[in-house]
Amino acid sequence: MIVKRILVVGAGPAGCSGAYSASRLGAEVLLVDIKKNIGEPVRSAELVPKLLKRTVDFKPIQTISNLVTVLNGKEYVVSSPAYMVDRREFDRHLVSLAIRAGAKVSMDTKLSFNGNETLINGIKSEFDFIIGCDGPSSFVGRHIGIKNMDFMFGIQGEYVLEKRLEDAYIFLDKKYVYGYAWLFPKGEYANVGLGISLKYSRESKRLLEGFVKMLVERKYIVNDSFITHTSGLIPCGGILTPCKNNILLAGDACGLAHPITGAGIAYACESGILAGKNASEGSAEKYKLEIMERYHETFERGRRKRKFLKENWNNFDETIRKCWPCFEEYNK
Ligand SMILES: Cc1cc2nc3c(=O)[nH]c(=O)nc-3n(C[C@H](O)[C@H](O)[C@H](O)COP(=O)(O)OP(=O)(O)OC[C@H]3O[C@@H](n4cnc5c(N)ncnc54)[C@H](O)[C@@H]3O)c2cc1C
Repeated sequence: MIVKRILVVGAGPAGCSGAYSASRLGAEVLLVDIKKNIGEPVRSAELVPKLLKRTVDFKPIQTISNLVTVLNGKEYVVSSPAYMVDRREFDRHLVSLAIRAGAKVSMDTKLSFNGNETLINGIKSEFDFIIGCDGPSSFVGRHIGIKNMDFMFGIQGEYVLEKRLEDAYIFLDKKYVYGYAWLFPKGEYANVGLGISLKYSRESKRLLEGFVKMLVERKYIVNDSFITHTSGLIPCGGILTPCKNNILLAGDACGLAHPITGAGIAYACESGILAGKNASEGSAEKYKLEIMERYHETFERGRRKRKFLKENWNNFDETIRKCWPCFEEYNK
C-alpha cells in the first residue's frame, strides 16, 4: 500500500483526532497550527457528553449528572450524563496521542495556497490529502469555497462557586437572542457564559454582566470572583459539504457544531477521526458519505429548528419549547 502524505490544518480537537487516526493507519502526517501553543486560549465552556469516552480517552475534571434548564423561573431537569474537561489539557492530551502515533506537529506555522500549490511557511509542499480542521472561519474551507455563514457569538467568564454543583444549568430568556446562557460547574469554579446571535454580539458583555449579577444574587457564584474571560464564534448553520477533491473538512470547519446548542467538541473529535481514516485510505467521497450518514438527520433537524426559532423569536415562550432539546416538543 502506498503511504499517504496528509496535511492536517488546525490542532484543536478535530485536527488532533484526525492526525491521530491517520497516523495510526500508517499515513505520514503533518499537523500545523497558526497558534504558538496547543489549547490556548481556551474558547470553550468545556462540557462534553459522557459518550465521547467511546471515541477518545481523556481525563474529566468533573462528572455532570443532569442538565437543568431554567425557563421563566421554572427548572426542567433532564438526565444528561456529561463531563467537564480542562480544554487546554484535553487538546494537549489529544495531540500527545497523535504524536505517539507518529504525527509531526508544527505550531506557529503559516499555511497559504497559490492556485493548487500548498505552501507551508512560504515553502511549496506536497500532500495527497489536506484535512481542514481550522475552526469556524476555516481558511482551508474558504480556499475551496465552503464556509460557515451563520454564527453565534459565545462569551464567558470563569467564577468561583458558592458551593459545588453536580448539575449543569442552562438559562433560556428572550434577551439571549437565538441563544442561551449557561452555568457549567467544574469543581470549585464554574464557566458562566452566553451564546447569542452574532448580529447582537455588541450586547453580549452587558448581558453577561446581568447574568453574573443574577447568579450572585441567587447564591450560585461568589461576588467579585471573576478569574478568566474568553469569547469566540460558534457556527450554527448546519453541516457544510465535507470535502472537495482531495481536501476534507472536519469539526467546526465543516459546520459540525449543533445549530441549537452550539456543542461541537464531540463532533470535532468524531469527524476528525473519520477524516483521518478516510484520507489515509485515500477516499474523500467515502468520508462525505460517512459524515452524512452519521450526522445529517440530527443536524438537519437542528438547522430547521434554528430557522423556526429565528422566525418566531417574538413568540418566545411557545417557540423555545419547540426548539430546545430538553422539551418534549423538540422531537415533534
Ligand atoms: C465560548 C464558547 C464555548 C463553547 N462551549 C462548548 C462546550 O461547552 N461544549 C462543546 O461541545 N462545544 C463548545 N463550544 C464549541 C467548541 O469549542 C467547538 O465546536 C470545538 O472547539 C471545535 O473544534 P475544532 O477542532 O473543529 O476547532 P477549534 O477548536 O476552533 O480548533 C481550530 C484550530 O485551528 C487553528 N487555526 C485556525 N486558523 C488556522 C490557519 N489558518 N492555519 C492553521 N491553523 C489554524 C486554531 O488556532 C485552532 O487551534 C464552544 C465554543 C465557544 C466559542
